[in-house]
Amino acid sequence: MAEPASTRPAPVVTDDSAVFWDAAAAGRLIAQRCGSCGRLRHPPRPMCPQCHSLDIDVVELAGTGTIYSYAILHHPQNPAFEYPVLAALVDLDEGIRVVSNLTDVDKGDIRIGMRVEVHFADAGNGSKVPLFRPVDPATVS
Ligand code: ZN
Repeated sequence: MAEPASTRPAPVVTDDSAVFWDAAAAGRLIAQRCGSCGRLRHPPRPMCPQCHSLDIDVVELAGTGTIYSYAILHHPQNPAFEYPVLAALVDLDEGIRVVSNLTDVDKGDIRIGMRVEVHFADAGNGSKVPLFRPVDPATVS
């Protein structure tokens, strides 16, 4: 009997985070940038934590970064995911940190400082979620 296809649940979208999830659904990784002081921030929120400005720009990110830390999750299990889940904090090259999952890597090969790149996985309701995988050294110029 074939395994049922696992499906990631759709992200919980709020008024503040819609800009991020709408971009992800289109295969783009974005961040908010303060329209006053220029600081990047993630996750999206209405006010700059540095200068308290409400002016918001949105910038597209390269989608590359390094693993700051990671955890290999075995429990509790949710049928929507394959285990173990490889959870990671990724420091993006633009200077912000995101929480995501790692794919296309054996859990024993993950290293702090490893170079990774974003890709997008289908989730519920036609949405997509950004995930990260090791950058192939052969493709780095
Ligand atoms: Zn600011």
